[in-house]
Amino acid sequence: MLFGVVTKPDNDWWIGRTKPDICHLSKLESLMFQGNGYFGIRGSVEEHYMEEKRDMFVMGTFDKYEDEATELPNLPDLVNLEIKINNEVMKLNHGEVSNFKRSLNIKNGEMTRSFIWKYNKNQYEFKFKRFVSMARLHLFISEVEVTPLTDNVRIQIKSGIDGQQTNCGTQHLVEGTKRLFNARFMQMQTRTQESKIKFALTEYHRIFLDETELNLNPHLKLSRRQIYANYSVDVNQGQTLTVVKYANIFSSKDKDLKCSVSEDSLLDLKKVGRIDYQALLAESTKVWEEDIWQNSNVEIQAHNNKPQIAVNFARYQLISNTPHDFGMNIGAKGMTGEGYKGHTFWDTEIFMLPYYILSLPHYAHNLLEYRYLGLIGAKRKAHQGCFHGAQYPWEAAMPADAESAPIWGNADIVTGRPMKILSGFLEQHVTSDVAYGVMSYLIATNDKIFAHRMGYEMILQCAKFWASRVEWNNEKNHYEITDVIGPDEYKEHVSNDAFTNYMAYWCMKRGAEIIADLRQNNLEVYDRLDQKINLKELFKALIQKSAMMYLPKPNTEEIIPQDDDYLSYKKIDISKYKDAEKDIEDVSEIFKDFDLKQLDKIQVTKQPDVLLMLLIFEDIFPKDTIIKNWNYYEPKTTHDSSLSYSPHAILANDLGLYDKAFEYFEKACQIDLGTNMESSVKGTHMAGFGGVWNTVVEAFGGVRITEKGLRVEPHLPSTWRSLKYSINWQGVKAEVYVTHTYFYVLTDGKIKFIYHQHEYQVEPKEKLVIEL
Ligand code: BGC
Ligand code: BGC
Repeated sequence: MLFGVVTKPDNDWWIGRTKPDICHLSKLESLMFQGNGYFGIRGSVEEHYMEEKRDMFVMGTFDKYEDEATELPNLPDLVNLEIKINNEVMKLNHGEVSNFKRSLNIKNGEMTRSFIWKYNKNQYEFKFKRFVSMARLHLFISEVEVTPLTDNVRIQIKSGIDGQQTNCGTQHLVEGTKRLFNARFMQMQTRTQESKIKFALTEYHRIFLDETELNLNPHLKLSRRQIYANYSVDVNQGQTLTVVKYANIFSSKDKDLKCSVSEDSLLDLKKVGRIDYQALLAESTKVWEEDIWQNSNVEIQAHNNKPQIAVNFARYQLISNTPHDFGMNIGAKGMTGEGYKGHTFWDTEIFMLPYYILSLPHYAHNLLEYRYLGLIGAKRKAHQGCFHGAQYPWEAAMPADAESAPIWGNADIVTGRPMKILSGFLEQHVTSDVAYGVMSYLIATNDKIFAHRMGYEMILQCAKFWASRVEWNNEKNHYEITDVIGPDEYKEHVSNDAFTNYMAYWCMKRGAEIIADLRQNNLEVYDRLDQKINLKELFKALIQKSAMMYLPKPNTEEIIPQDDDYLSYKKIDISKYKDAEKDIEDVSEIFKDFDLKQLDKIQVTKQPDVLLMLLIFEDIFPKDTIIKNWNYYEPKTTHDSSLSYSPHAILANDLGLYDKAFEYFEKACQIDLGTNMESSVKGTHMAGFGGVWNTVVEAFGGVRITEKGLRVEPHLPSTWRSLKYSINWQGVKAEVYVTHTYFYVLTDGKIKFIYHQHEYQVEPKEKLVIEL
């Protein structure tokens, strides 16, 4: 496994760099992102560089500028801190830099940086550290130490709130007001232009010379959208100047707001400002430890600790980008960058939800509750297309919005014209994916309250959409789905995409089963839903349409056609595109040679479609058929999406292609952590992180949420000695330990699981051991 960051063999929770990387700032800003699910900040360094991309977002505070797609506004920067020594600005690209170290502690999100800066023959030691608190969701705190090693100097500090940030040029915030309270607390108040969400950001500094706190009031500088505190201190050789910056952000969407954003922000900072950095870090570390790590343990013993670091990093990134609040969801790039505008895709349900369902089910509950609130928008979207029920948007922002996908994309290489993005119109499988996520959650948690209050209604509204969406083909005497985009976005306007059809069929069938079950066992819920949905009529439609639904079947060579035409298209050698560094994030290598219209007519697949369907519906086809389809489609897949590797890894493991499985696992781990310094620039890949965990626990650890219940069929990679992980199954905590020869399951309650068609029952606190 090759990483673009430095790791330590004896520390599974540490990534670093030993060079300033001015050319690769953006990549490191994404990797060293700090967040707590409420807000998040890219790991931009304190001083400014041309190459930087500062971003700070508060979850769920979307705004729409003119006819652009709605997005998370980039908020005023709190990180900046300029240091002048004898009037010379410290920058790493002038003077000489030695002993450079930069790191992120992925156990608690603390980022540190240290180096010696030599300028005009004199040397200065710098140490930076900072974190976003998990214990106090509004708080960001940083500490900087400067020690002149060779001379006595005057050090000037300029640090403040810089509202001149934009989303690639779009300014979402009004100028607002800036002021100073009690001679020390700077505050900026602003609001978004369209959604009128208010923000208050307050910042406060404490300055120390060695151990002594200096009672210094800042010299204030206000300019457009900026407010800065300036300090000037004489520091002797060997003395250390320490600046501690306390900063917070409040928004009018906060559920914990007491008075106003301004008052809450000020009061909060006055309180927090008395506590020192280490104490604040300790309380934040404790939350990470007790709420997160203890509930989602994964321990890998392998030939080196890179797989462990990768799965730790994946979980660090997921957790810091996952809302604690039920009205919000995870963006495809979380809050780590402006890519995909903070929008939520099917990435959440299919790629990230398994981790939450099995490790931290209350997070999964919140993520699904967002979709419940989204029923309003989804119904509107269905209605706009003259359908019934709920059609979830391909890209979702505020839960009640309908479709948030942008409409125009890059230029077509053949015509030079901007390409229309059709995903928001045609990529409809997301509606089944949401229903599938709900069902997985219900199976694994047995959360009846959620089922009755929200879950069943969502699945039924999705099923109702499909019942109105499928089209009758008189000639072929079946229902079909034409004019869609499947997961393989390199094919547009296709008919009977395999993944879409099977998922829609599953959704309708599941809907019918839920109605039948409620009618039998829970008339109260049945009646309530009946008033909203007319269940009798829906039941009839679901039974009739699912029975007559066309599901692409294996042909004479046992290949399941990806859509009606795919198998008739020409084949090309795609090795060049497969192995290409996925460098420019939104233009894959293949678009340098073909435009979408041409790709439409070639047997090339962006990411798994038939293979993903076969992974999800593993029981429908014999293993032999699945292998034939693997052999057919895997070589035709370019993996131009970060969602591609993990399903390949899991399916390969299921099929006994263990080397391939590990190869794909390594690729999944390298999406962001790998050596390609041009990737992740617009943010990291949340579904990729979900995929890393999925591969470890679902493939190597063998766990699957199935209609029949929990299944555990592990198989470790040859280079691993053991794997231990914890999962939560229907309220019972289970620890699974896997080696090459046996595995055991140890629980704190009774559970059943399936291992190769046999059901086992585990008694609380009794290790159930199975020989492999
Ligand atoms: C993605 C689509 C998305 C579009 C606009 C493309 O790169 O593949 O899924 O809808 O960007 O955000
Ligand atoms: C993929 C989609 C995905 C989106 C956001 C696109 O490149 O093709 O499947 O939902 O990125 O991650």
